[in-house]
Amino acid sequence: MRATASQQASQQVAIVQFSDAGERLKTVQVPKIVKSEEAWRQQLPAGVFDITRHADTEIAYTGKYWNLHDQGLYRCICCDNALFSSETKFDSGTGWPSFWAPIAAENVRSTTDTSYGMVRTAVSCTECDAHLGHLFDDGPEPTHLRYCMNSASLKFVAHRTR
Ligand SMILES: [Zn+2]
Repeated sequence: MRATASQQASQQVAIVQFSDAGERLKTVQVPKIVKSEEAWRQQLPAGVFDITRHADTEIAYTGKYWNLHDQGLYRCICCDNALFSSETKFDSGTGWPSFWAPIAAENVRSTTDTSYGMVRTAVSCTECDAHLGHLFDDGPEPTHLRYCMNSASLKFVAHRTR
């Protein structure tokens, strides 16, 4: 018998918490966030719902963050899990916000995506399974990875400067 969404609701996942200032706090076990289609649809704007819950992709150069260079961190639009830091963001020339590493390996998850006749690596949020984007191996030093993300999946939190 296949597990239903409600049976999976008690699954625990490990994530690393970060303060809004970007400080690494601690690794915690949290229950994986599982919500119905309807609950996500009510929480999220339509475009964000399609991208995060149905792996849609925003049109290049249309998102909020591809050209943002401010210092801060990027959280999951669905659940606030910390995903990326401005410290690993780079200009990929693709029109999507691109990073060479996640803020913590625990906080994102990679899976094989065979949609559209391509074999790609999809990246999602560990805590709530939001689709974030795809992972490629043509990034810069030091990892040579390129996390090609949708702005719509992210929420930028600026580091306060005084
Ligand atoms: Zn999330």
